[in-house]
Amino acid sequence: MANAPVQRMSQLMAKTLRDDPADAEVLSHKLLVRAGYVRRTAAGIWSWLPLGKKVLSNVERIVREEMDAIGAQEVSLPALLPREPYDATGRWDEYGAELFRLQDRKGGDYLLGPTHEEIFTLLVKDQCSSYKDMPVILYQIQTKFRDEARPRAGILRGREFLMKDSYSFDLEDEGLAASYGLHRQAYQRIFERLGLDYRIVAATAGAMGGSKSEEFLAPAEAGEDTFADCPNCDFAANTEAVYQAVKPVDGSAVPAAEEIPTPDTPTIETLAASLGVPASATLKNLLVKVDGEIVAVGVPGDREVDMGKVEEHFGPTATVELVTEEDFAVRTDLVRGYVGPQGLEKVKYLADPRVAPGTAWITGANKDGMHAKNVVAGRDFEVEEYVDVVVVQEGDPCPKCGTGLKLDRAIEIGHIFQLGRKYADALKLDVLGQNGKPVRVTMGSYGVGVSRAVAALAEQTADEKGLCWPAEVAPADVHVVAAGKALQTELALEVSDKLAAAGLRVLVDDRAGVSPGVKFTDSELIGVPKILVAGRRAAEGVLELKDRRTGEREELTVDEAIARLS
Ligand code: ATP
Ligand code: MG
Ligand code: MG
Ligand code: MG
Repeated sequence: MANAPVQRMSQLMAKTLRDDPADAEVLSHKLLVRAGYVRRTAAGIWSWLPLGKKVLSNVERIVREEMDAIGAQEVSLPALLPREPYDATGRWDEYGAELFRLQDRKGGDYLLGPTHEEIFTLLVKDQCSSYKDMPVILYQIQTKFRDEARPRAGILRGREFLMKDSYSFDLEDEGLAASYGLHRQAYQRIFERLGLDYRIVAATAGAMGGSKSEEFLAPAEAGEDTFADCPNCDFAANTEAVYQAVKPVDGSAVPAAEEIPTPDTPTIETLAASLGVPASATLKNLLVKVDGEIVAVGVPGDREVDMGKVEEHFGPTATVELVTEEDFAVRTDLVRGYVGPQGLEKVKYLADPRVAPGTAWITGANKDGMHAKNVVAGRDFEVEEYVDVVVVQEGDPCPKCGTGLKLDRAIEIGHIFQLGRKYADALKLDVLGQNGKPVRVTMGSYGVGVSRAVAALAEQTADEKGLCWPAEVAPADVHVVAAGKALQTELALEVSDKLAAAGLRVLVDDRAGVSPGVKFTDSELIGVPKILVAGRRAAEGVLELKDRRTGEREELTVDEAIARLS
């Protein structure tokens, strides 16, 4: 490969910023914008500037190399997709508000792909006809579209984002297990090479259907996932999976309807007490307030809160706010309802494992006060779909060893699923078996959040001075700083050329009229692992080499610096 040209800061189309962007809540968002890596184009939609694009491409390259290493074949499928296959699997409707749907000029329905199970299934149906064509693993690294309810946290949760998605096709369950195992190993190598601290946790398959599923989580405060971690053994699971392990959902362990106390005082505390959870936690949900008084509670899920309805019922001064979660986890993404004229009147998913099967527990309130009652599906409320609501508290026993579990926040960076035959059944994917009879294919689907991994890395590796990239993903190997006048610039450019000739990727701060202080601050913000300064002793041909992470410094001649860095 040809050596990369030296990247000069004087020509770089990106400016560093002194201040955090006003809308930024999390560290990676602040730093990636301030260091000139990304710019916001619209809510959840981001542009990658030159340095950011380099980091993104590095992540992409590592993912590609490890996918190729397990024999996966790279393809590129469209992002603009026809409706029909998604109708066949039911996902055109099931995907809900997250799916970007659109029409062409003739009125035909299309979508922007959020994930591609259907299209890959059809591709394999078209290309593979015999058992000899199996197993096969296909992948792509492609832009995905999801109309996320709350795109926040910069590129951690985009509405347009880059994902590596792959799909495995096998004849037998054992084959699927092997393809799944290959992905698990590839993901371990990917995240190790990226320099991410990560955990593999048991997960439930959720909307994907299928059986076995694990998530790769990067522990970080900014994460939106909560996982349970055993301080004593190797058990780790997302909160949903651990609940199923700790308290099986068979209806027998739950109190009968009448045993559930109904609070008569309309306060959050009594409602929380009836649910047996801390008040701060229960209602991560949404609160409707009038004059500071709570008059209703609901769970917004991915729905827009209907302010028209809120106003109609509670008057024009009603406000809606979200309550935060503390040392407690409710998978609110699984609980969906909305505030209507009767408080929380329509339930999309609400089947709490603590209440008897066939009934649901509606927590809500209306003008007449707060209520938590046990109610019957069909009679008392409209059910769209049942999903288990999962509640795990800090200190719940580890299903393996009984030690009290810890709850931690993390970013989901990868997810692997054994889908089984769900998509093959819906789209009739068969190949001819050895005996000449058709065999239904079994599938897996596997995702890595490529753009999200950039933000996760920034979260985990940044310090108070700025970004601090691991070597393999950094936008350059060395950041040369010309700290002074013409003499320093000359030396900086000379050493930059030599480093580039030795195969290093070099960023050089050759900006005229920018003080050494500003250049040092910028070099720390940008986060290239090695910083080489042409400064005080430039006349003698001596440079200072600084390690971005440890801050260790040493003085070196040009030749020594090249030998040290290459
Ligand atoms: P999340 O729980 O964060 O919404 P998900 O479970 O919906 O993610 P998957 O369908 O499992 O996501 O997609 C595979 C991977 O794509 C995820 O593990 C994550 O790393 C990444 N990803 C998903 N949604 C986004 C997004 N909105 N922005 C950036 N990356 C995303
Ligand atoms: Mg999601
Ligand atoms: Mg998830
Ligand atoms: Mg997932």
